[in-house]
Amino acid sequence: MPIYEFKCKECGHEFEIIMRASASKEEVTCPKCHAKNPDRLMSAFSSGSSSSGGFSASSSCGSSAFS
Ligand SMILES: [Zn+2]
Repeated sequence: MPIYEFKCKECGHEFEIIMRASASKEEVTCPKCHAKNPDRLMSAFSSGSSSSGGFSASSSCGSSAFS
């Protein structure tokens, strides 16, 4: 499943969302401030700045993708 990275326009929080094909970007909200329509970052390729390798780091909001 594709993982998309987003960055909140409001608080700047970066987070990852595993989205289904049926899901739309408009449904994504920031897990911190719940603002809608975050900026989508290009994952994996040439993102440069945030190389946290964060599989578990950035998803600290109780939404464990590995259950
Ligand atoms: Zn936010």
